[in-house]
Amino acid sequence: MSAVEQDSGTQASWKDDAGRDLVRNAGERFALFVRGEGSSLWDDEGRRYLDFLGGIAVTSLGHAHPVFVQAVAQQAATLAHVSNFFATPPQLALAATLKRLAGAGEAGRVYFGNSGAEANEAAFKLARLHGRGSDGTDTRPRILALTNAFHGRTMGTLALTGKSYMQEPFAPMVPGVEFLDSTVEALEAAMDDRVAALFVEPIKGEAGVVPLPEGYLEAARELTARHGALLIIDEIQTGAARTGSWFAFQRAGIVPDAITVAKGIGGGFPIGALITFGAASDLFTPGSHGSTFGGNPLGTAVADAVLAEIERAGLVENARQRGIQLREQVAALGSTLVEGCRGEGLLIGVALTAPVAPAVVAAAQQHGLIVNAANDSTIRLAPALTIGDVEIDEFTRLFSRALATVQDALLLDAQTPTSEVPA
Ligand SMILES: *Cc1c(COP(=O)(O)O)cnc(C)c1O
Repeated sequence: MSAVEQDSGTQASWKDDAGRDLVRNAGERFALFVRGEGSSLWDDEGRRYLDFLGGIAVTSLGHAHPVFVQAVAQQAATLAHVSNFFATPPQLALAATLKRLAGAGEAGRVYFGNSGAEANEAAFKLARLHGRGSDGTDTRPRILALTNAFHGRTMGTLALTGKSYMQEPFAPMVPGVEFLDSTVEALEAAMDDRVAALFVEPIKGEAGVVPLPEGYLEAARELTARHGALLIIDEIQTGAARTGSWFAFQRAGIVPDAITVAKGIGGGFPIGALITFGAASDLFTPGSHGSTFGGNPLGTAVADAVLAEIERAGLVENARQRGIQLREQVAALGSTLVEGCRGEGLLIGVALTAPVAPAVVAAAQQHGLIVNAANDSTIRLAPALTIGDVEIDEFTRLFSRALATVQDALLLDAQTPTSEVPA
């Protein structure tokens, strides 16, 4: 059935299809999106939405950016895939770009996968290789990660993810991972010479855009170095200029042993990478890891074009400036539902004074704004890095209306005990 033939039963029919055909790992989908441009999305009924989620910090250049479109089309028409038995120019170009932007230096190396989880799987294996003594014995069996951090949903990365409700249904976990509170004291207490690696997110995105304490990365670098453990920083959500620097760790002025990237580097094309620094770059040897699709010329050409456009258009600085502007606008709303903002650049968690984030998301969608509830009391904003005054003004207007809608429902709820906050 074409869009023209469809009647008002359209909505029911795609929801039926989704309910019947898709694995039930997600809740009911709110909309059927058919097109995007810049920070706009359109659903199947022609309704426009302002996108301030960016597919969870993925569409760095917005939707259907000419640079992205051109890179996909041109590389698809040139060479899309040959396998890792061979090298291709886009793969080598992107590896060099990532090494330069991350400051990985001459010794740095890049492993390509197709997602964040695959990048972190590679990092997990890197940690195990580091943990093996030269005679193959497991001299460093301990891997440290932080409570509430998120590193992915595959079995290896789930073992690194400090959320028991995610792990429990899939137990037993890959062994060896211990979870710590995100304090320097907890790290000091846990660190010894049997630790292979410490995994950290500079800002815990999935936990609600929660930054590490001031000075944590510096202390983590010092402690891991002192005990010979790797410091592995998960920049999957925070990388690619999202937080107003190329990578969030760079603001701490440290050099990690490895970082992982994905989400924003492809601007919507699925790609992930592990970037190693220094001696950690020599841990993988021929045959120790691999991926059929990883580093294919199509994905790497697109990511290299996206990163080049971020650089050309000054979007690192834009993310920083617009982040400040957005925070000021949210504060200026003076809503009693807003406690304040966390995060950096254009990765923002709006902390609410009540656990009504799902209701705010639903109200925002009714008003034509896409945001996400990172947890019950945090709204996550991760718009395109290209946003300007027009998008920020529209966001402010729509977000203010969404907050007012929920506020009204709460007041009504307080007056008439039987009424409900919109779900
Ligand atoms: C999204 C995310 C991942 C997982 O990436 P996928 O592409 O979903 O596998 C891992 N770590 C962090 C910090 C993330 O935000």
